[in-house]
Formats: sequence, C-alpha cells, structure tokens
Amino acid sequence: MAETGETPGGETEATIFTLISKDDVQGVTEILRTGSVNVDIVDEHGMTPLQHAAYRGNETMCRMLLDRGADVNGGNHNNNYTALHFAALSGKSALCQVLLQAGAKSHAVNSVGRTPAQMAAFVGNHGCVSTINNFVDRKDVEYFTSVRGLETDPKLQSFLVSPVHNLIMQINFHPVRVALYVKKNNILLEHIPEVIQVLKLISEREMKKGADANEITAFKIHLLSFILTKMQEESVGAKGHDPVENFIKKMLRCKTPGGIPEQLDILLREGVRAFPFRETTIMQQLVTNLAHTKLCEDPGAWGIISSVVNGHKGFRDNDPCATCGDEKGSKKCSRCHFDAYCDKDCQLLHWFVHKKYCKAKAEEWAKRGTDTSIENPEPIVL
Ligand SMILES: [Zn+2]
Ligand SMILES: [Zn+2]
Repeated sequence: MAETGETPGGETEATIFTLISKDDVQGVTEILRTGSVNVDIVDEHGMTPLQHAAYRGNETMCRMLLDRGADVNGGNHNNNYTALHFAALSGKSALCQVLLQAGAKSHAVNSVGRTPAQMAAFVGNHGCVSTINNFVDRKDVEYFTSVRGLETDPKLQSFLVSPVHNLIMQINFHPVRVALYVKKNNILLEHIPEVIQVLKLISEREMKKGADANEITAFKIHLLSFILTKMQEESVGAKGHDPVENFIKKMLRCKTPGGIPEQLDILLREGVRAFPFRETTIMQQLVTNLAHTKLCEDPGAWGIISSVVNGHKGFRDNDPCATCGDEKGSKKCSRCHFDAYCDKDCQLLHWFVHKKYCKAKAEEWAKRGTDTSIENPEPIVL
C-alpha cells in the first residue's frame, strides 16, 4: 500500500464511493487495480460500488465493476434494494439489461415487498418494466438443446436457439407482431411443432424455479406458444393461401372503425384461460380484469395483457399501431388521420379493413379542418 501511495483502508473505501458519485470510471478502475479495496465492499448503508453506480444509472461504471467480478446480487442494503432495483429506479433500460445478463434476480423484493419491475412501474419508468419483464436468459433456451434422460434427440435443435430466444425477448408480443416475426424467420415456421413444444417447456420450467420463478415471463412464453399453435391451425386446409397472411387477416378483421377485432380478442382470452398456473398473481389479475371487460370492449384483451406484462401507462404519447398494437405507432393515415401505424408495412396489412372507412373518416377530418394536433402524416401508399 505504501508503494502505491494509497491512504489506509477506510479512506480508500470512502474514496471509491466518492469517485462513483462523480462518475469517475478511470479513478475507480485505478483503485480496483491496486487491489487495496474489495470490489464488493459495502458502505454504512450496506451498499456496494455496483449498487451506487446503478443508482446513478452509470452503465459504463456498472459494466467495468461487473468485469472486475462485482456480485450482481451482492450488497446488504438497509431496505434490501438490489443493484437491479436501483437501475430500475434510474430509468435506464439498457443498464437493466446489462445487470440481467449478468444474472441479476428479477424477482428479488425490497423491504416493502416490491420487485425491481414493480419499483420501476411505481415511478413511471415503463421502459425498465418492459426490459425486466421480457428478459429471459439465453441459457434457458439452450437448456433444451442437450439430450436428457432417455431421449435420443434434443428437444430443440441448436440453430433454433437464436430465433426462439429473440422471439421471447420481443417486447411487443401482439399476435400480429408475432406473425410478422415468424414470417421474417421462416426457420421457425418450418419447425413450428418443435418451437411450440419448447416454448411450453420453457414456461413450465420457469414456474418450477420456486422462489426464483418469474410468473410474468412464464405467462408471456405460454401465450407465445398459444399464438403459434393458432397460427399453425391456419395452415390446415389453407390450400394456395399463405397461412401466416391468413392468420394476420383474421386478427385484423373488424366490424367497427377503430374497434377491437373480435377474433383477436377471442384468441387472447382463450390464451389466458389456457395458462396452466391458475394460482399465480398474474392469472388472478388477468382473469379479474377480463371478467370486467366485455368482448371487444375497450381496452380489449390485448390492452389488458400488455399493460400487465409491460406496465401500466398513464397517458399514451401516441395511439398504438392499428395493425400490431405497437405503442411507437405515430404515423397516421394521411388521408383520414384516423388510424396510426408503425410504418408502411403495417399500414398495407391493415388496408383491407381501413379502406372501408377511410373516405368517410377523411370527410369528418376535413370538416374539423383546423386541428393541427397530428404531425408527420405519412403519404398513403395505395
Ligand atoms: Zn405496427
Ligand atoms: Zn385513412
């Protein structure tokens, strides 16, 4: 210690926390390099350097500390906050992702019984809620590529790991978005029975993790397998038709302009009922909410499910996409300004529904005339 010129232990410990409070990554790296302070040292509140860095939302600092062996679930905070709780409060979704990839426990509860996602929802950090609730470790998918017990073949072929994992991690799991993903990743379609089966198994395995189980993740993966099953059923007797296109059309067909498509609502309600873990909080929440909402009544089964998985949103900045339910949908039909879409692809898919009322809505729009609240109108492509 004398040769590095460091002050005695206690002060070095104080220094590391001071440097973190100044976001001085270089300084903290130097201190750790000398070996004079443990990377998981705690301050008087039981907080580790990683927790301090997460509290500040400093992703670079957190990555460096993790590289140096910081325990992602370490610390002994007065109120049982973990680094992920702090990251969730900081509002940095990318940082939450880094901690989750490093093995942060998403179900850990603080002294008032709240998980990191619940804390994020509490302060309105919806991006963090989505990131945490949609995170699944790639290892949980890879698990099914090994031959187990009396099996001769693994349940999942290794080339399916990435497309399956990416499907699970998608924040928007609206049936149309899932169909579009499958269309782009044709390999999933070619192996659909295998994929459906493995999704079911991943969901069940998640629930068997006991205290570590994330029931929101398990439910979402169950719903994905259910959506794919329904999509697969479309291919039966679909001579000369693209079964995925058929499925998308079915999910979009709607009687009233801007209404909730009936088949979509029915499919999602069935999907909820088919979740085998009825005692879970998420199931109780969904069943209660759906029971109080009539078929196709606002906000619809999709509105209810997505807000339970991705957090409640007080006010929407944008109307969701009329095709795939994406919240980013901000471009309105330039003729009638009635429906919003992510992009031209979504607009095109919805045209067979939209064309029935576009003209009438455009006339209504023209009468209002002076409303300039909508920007970025996209030129209509058809
Ligand atoms: Zn869309
Ligand atoms: Zn229109």
